[in-house]
Amino acid sequence: MRVCSFSLGFKMTFEIKERDLLARIGRLKTKSGIVETPLLFPVVNPSIQPIPPRKIGEVFGCEALITNAYILKKRFQNQPAERGLHKFLDFNGVVMTDSGAYQILRYGDIETTPKEIVEYQEKIDTDIATILDYPTGLKVTRKHAEKTVNTTTKNAKQLFKTKTRNDILWVGPIQGGRYLDLVAKSARQMRKLPFQIHALGSPTEIMQQYRFDLLVDMIVTAKMNLPIDKPLHLFGAGHPIMFSLAIALGCDLFDSAAYAIYARNNRYMTPNGTHRLEELEYFPCPCPKCTKTTPKAVSELPTKKRQTFLAEHNLYTCQAEIKQVKQAIKNGRLWEHLQTRAHSHPTLLQALKKLKKYEDYIEKHSPATKKSGIFFYDHTDLARPYVVRHRKKLTERYSPPKEAEILLLIPQTRTKPLHKSKELKEIKKLLQDTFKQHLNKIHTCFYTAPFGIIPIELDEVYPLSQHETALPLDKETIEYVTKQTANYINNTNYKTIILINDTENWNKNILNTCKKTCKNKNIKFKHINIKEKRTKTMLTSLKKILQKTLSEQP
Ligand SMILES: [Zn+2]
Repeated sequence: MRVCSFSLGFKMTFEIKERDLLARIGRLKTKSGIVETPLLFPVVNPSIQPIPPRKIGEVFGCEALITNAYILKKRFQNQPAERGLHKFLDFNGVVMTDSGAYQILRYGDIETTPKEIVEYQEKIDTDIATILDYPTGLKVTRKHAEKTVNTTTKNAKQLFKTKTRNDILWVGPIQGGRYLDLVAKSARQMRKLPFQIHALGSPTEIMQQYRFDLLVDMIVTAKMNLPIDKPLHLFGAGHPIMFSLAIALGCDLFDSAAYAIYARNNRYMTPNGTHRLEELEYFPCPCPKCTKTTPKAVSELPTKKRQTFLAEHNLYTCQAEIKQVKQAIKNGRLWEHLQTRAHSHPTLLQALKKLKKYEDYIEKHSPATKKSGIFFYDHTDLARPYVVRHRKKLTERYSPPKEAEILLLIPQTRTKPLHKSKELKEIKKLLQDTFKQHLNKIHTCFYTAPFGIIPIELDEVYPLSQHETALPLDKETIEYVTKQTANYINNTNYKTIILINDTENWNKNILNTCKKTCKNKNIKFKHINIKEKRTKTMLTSLKKILQKTLSEQP
């Protein structure tokens, strides 16, 4: 297990304990205790708060919450400083403060300065503090976006001249919105400054518009330009529908005002989307609130009680999804979880498809081995790190055994590992019995979905034999494997290719490609068509073909 840490003069550490894709389970050390990430900070607004902070900690198990320093300063002035923020809120977990950036986005300028907001956050004794950044928003001109990036960087630099305490973790937000080159520039500027946490600003509007594909671009662009092992907060991303996506891309911290805002609008969150309370006949949720009542009864409650009910359910749902994602990381099944959630909404599936664009980056930073077998559903899974990694290894680092002259291409089998399948055992027996003196000339490889070509000696390398693939294969997967097969033939020096052609799963795709590739390369090609339970006929044909091929060779 890899443990990464960084510190800055004082003892503040982010340790990574588990990884899957770009996701990690980590431990973030703050002056009020260590919290485990991925972590959701429920937004607490002391003026209108449906669930008291103490209850958020004790009943909902939230280790941290976030509140807005600008609102505190404006409404409560010195009270939080006099009593200490934790006492003022009545919460003994970790408290993070935002700076008022959201208010800038909504109302334009606000009545404070970057310096004042830094001093205020130190004074109230927050644990995690945010500089006064300038959120870009979604529908803005490039010129405006540039301004937001420049102002945010300027304020970030100023922090290190203003701050006087060393025990508070500071958040350095990345801006730029949909202008990805500006996001990259913003991240490169921020990484030069000694922030303990980075954040990606202003995705709220992007999420309200369901532009999850753009969110993928923004997060990955920020990640690629930030130190990968520092924690990353995604501002304003508080719906469980997208937690797995953001976490898979390396976001560690989230804040949710949505659980309360949705409740005010009669909206009921589920990890697969949102329902309006009046549309529900049943509560699909096993939380302690939902099991005791019905949608009808809740809709008849007085406004305040109804809103509290919904806020509590929404928060339970958010927390449950974070836990599910963590367990998926532990099991090495975050991709499968992502697949499930991606089918909640077409725009989420679109975002999953977008990962193809970043498959090299994701592969590079994904851990190599996990305990469990993996599932392949369709061509979106071709962007999975395991598939990308196998392709790279085979192209860049693999060469077939030196004496091999004949490539015997065998279709994938249901039994795994492949070399233990009944079909292969029979082929092996034939080779042993009849072609013993030529064994080193014949090299067996499998053509499989989704990996492409698997040389027999590699078939026990994880996860080449630890996977289940859904049949029949889709067009894109067939195309991918076909292309990998052609690449393999082109990159190697066999003199003859013999294909055992599985027409049932591959139709004529592999056959035609092999034929064409061999013709272009000017090498011999032979094939045997098989259908289910025709092993005996296949073996007879294979024997004949091999005898002929070997007799023709010098
Ligand atoms: Zn519930």
